[in-house]
Amino acid sequence: MSDKTGASKTAAPRRIAFATALTTLVLALSIAGLLGFAILVMRDSANRMDDERALRAANAAIVSFKAKLAATVRDNAVWDDAYTAVNSEEAGSWTYDNWGKTTEAYPLYDSAVVLDRNGVVISAYEKGQVFDPYQRFGASFADMMRAANAPKRDPVLSFARAGSDILLIGSSAIQAYSSTTTDSALAVLSFSKRLSDEVVAQIATEHQLTGLSLSRNPVAPQDGLTVALPGFDGQPVAFFAWPSQKPGSAVFARIKPYILSAAGLLLAFMILILTASRKEAAILRAMAQKAHHQASHDGLTGLLNRTGLLERLAAPAGVGYAPTETLTLHLLDLDGFKAVNDAWGHAVGDVLLKMVAQRLQAVHPEAVYAARLGGDEFALLQIGRTPPDALSAEIVACLAQPFAIGGRTIEIGSSVGHCSQDPTLDPLELVRRADMALYKAKQTGRGRAYAYRPELDAEREQLASLEGQLRQAIASDLIKPVFQPLISVATQKICGVEALARWRSPTGSVAPDIFIPLAERSGLIDELGMKILASAIRSAGRWDRLTLSVNISPIQLCNPTFVDSVTALLEREAFDPRRLTLEITEGVLISNPDQARRAINALKDLGIQFALDDFGCGFASIGALRQFGFDRMKLDRSLVWGLDDEAKGPGVLKATIALAAALNIPVTAEGIETESQARALGAAGCDQLQGYLVGKPMDEEALESLIAQDRLVA
Ligand code: C2E
Ligand code: CA
Ligand code: CA
Repeated sequence: MSDKTGASKTAAPRRIAFATALTTLVLALSIAGLLGFAILVMRDSANRMDDERALRAANAAIVSFKAKLAATVRDNAVWDDAYTAVNSEEAGSWTYDNWGKTTEAYPLYDSAVVLDRNGVVISAYEKGQVFDPYQRFGASFADMMRAANAPKRDPVLSFARAGSDILLIGSSAIQAYSSTTTDSALAVLSFSKRLSDEVVAQIATEHQLTGLSLSRNPVAPQDGLTVALPGFDGQPVAFFAWPSQKPGSAVFARIKPYILSAAGLLLAFMILILTASRKEAAILRAMAQKAHHQASHDGLTGLLNRTGLLERLAAPAGVGYAPTETLTLHLLDLDGFKAVNDAWGHAVGDVLLKMVAQRLQAVHPEAVYAARLGGDEFALLQIGRTPPDALSAEIVACLAQPFAIGGRTIEIGSSVGHCSQDPTLDPLELVRRADMALYKAKQTGRGRAYAYRPELDAEREQLASLEGQLRQAIASDLIKPVFQPLISVATQKICGVEALARWRSPTGSVAPDIFIPLAERSGLIDELGMKILASAIRSAGRWDRLTLSVNISPIQLCNPTFVDSVTALLEREAFDPRRLTLEITEGVLISNPDQARRAINALKDLGIQFALDDFGCGFASIGALRQFGFDRMKLDRSLVWGLDDEAKGPGVLKATIALAAALNIPVTAEGIETESQARALGAAGCDQLQGYLVGKPMDEEALESLIAQDRLVA
């Protein structure tokens, strides 16, 4: 037998733990992602801002480089002396002295070229040497000179290539400072400043352009930042190039270890959370599993409890039930378990229950589940094709085997009720039906199995309505005693009467075998018993010389107020207690020996006598007779009738009576119907006889006329 349905109940904590972990994970990753993104944005914008600053600086450097050359060429070209000189005879020597010679070593320009108004070279010197500007500066030089050749015009500036050199050329028409000339053509002065490595380095320092270099190619370099140096036609002649400083990346590189550490910490934190939540989930799962197990199992035997059984019944497919098979619920009740508990204590009772549980689990392969539903109530779930009656019989047989506990041999029995599942049946209804069958089994006698039948429901309903009627009947005193005479063997005269309850209802009479147990079950027996006792005592008050026997239910005897009630009744009716005999059956002696003993002793102290009723049909022993101080024993009818069966009856009967006689306990024989029975029992040693032969139970008047005749009647 195994547990198959617990797992689903444990999914919830796992889901909760998983959701918590997932939320934390998503949250942590989102924060990390946002932070990472912010850092990258900061890095990139710092890089971009620095690049923009560098571009602005480079452009400013070019502007200032140009402005310087422009100022120099303007200062020299717009000069009255120069204007006069270039248009005179000594133009060549004058321009050499003032400008050509200067080119040898002068920071502001490297070459100086003077052209006459027709573009013919007057003088051209570069670093102190004569050179041909048209050849060195290329075709655009002529264009540039033409463009510069106009009065009142700003100097024309343009980058140019000269061999492998890149230089800035600034040109301006030579004119008088205060000139108002209207000449259409003038001489032109042109200075050039070479972008040597030193010049580039100086620009870099002045304008904070780290790594600035001159790319002497007319095509922009691929990497880094560039600014074009345009020629006269606007096309790039060369480029200033420098690497992007990427200050953001530099800062990023510096803080990268910290970011990595933080990421590492975050990762560790995540792993910690994940493992912790997994552990937590496992603990929750285990707790849920344990709680579910506890809620559905019996603590003592480990079997399912009522909840667990109902769960299995609600989902029969989960326990291996297929529609081709029969599912049967067997409910069983232990017979005599209470007596074991009372006699040996609860520890032994507990061991017994555990042993019962073990036996039940092994009773049959088709018994897939065993459950304990209450004190000594168990259930077995059968799935298979074995007839349920056969399995019930096996259960009864298996529990009838004695149990060995701590050197004791304990025998109990069991009653079983079973019901087979109709697929439409609600589990509670199945249990109710099996319970009804069990109830019937217990009523029918011990060690019996009973199958549910629909008639049981009708019976139960009848019983319920009968209970209502009984309540009514008791309340309106409809149940009265009749009296059956007891004959003394010695005198052959009536020596006493036994009161027997009779319920005559308008619809017919109900037998005491029906209504007494019903009153016992429905809690009416105390009231009913006291009423019959009171009524019998009142009637018997008139029959001075007769004893009165009244039957007492075990339940009454166990009621703590019983002794006081009887005492009060006797006082009220002024009835001599020595005339009263209370008849009890042995059942109460087994189930509640201590309470029975206390009540018996208290009432015996008043003078009341006790008779053990129905001796010989149950388990009562002669020992019990003495132990509880019985004053009389009543031989059960079945023993008396057994006399006729020569084979077994007489020996046992005679021995029993002889034993009682030896113990000084007188014996009444019940159910005497024939003269021969009367003779035989008298001879065997019974001192009183009771039965139809001497008189049927009769009402007061009939009894009084019988007493008046004072003779035996048939
Ligand atoms: P019991 O105490 O053994 O009562 C004797 C039963 O045997 C009576 O049945 C009686 O009518 C019947 N009986 C007597 N002589 C003969 C005979 O010669 N032949 C046959 N066949 N039967 C005979 P009754 O009155 O039906 O009572 C049945 C049982 O109900 C009683 O058995 C007793 O246990 C119980 N009972 C009756 N009245 C009361 C009562 O007031 N209180 C309690 N607690 N139980 C009662
Ligand atoms: Ca009796
Ligand atoms: Ca009896």
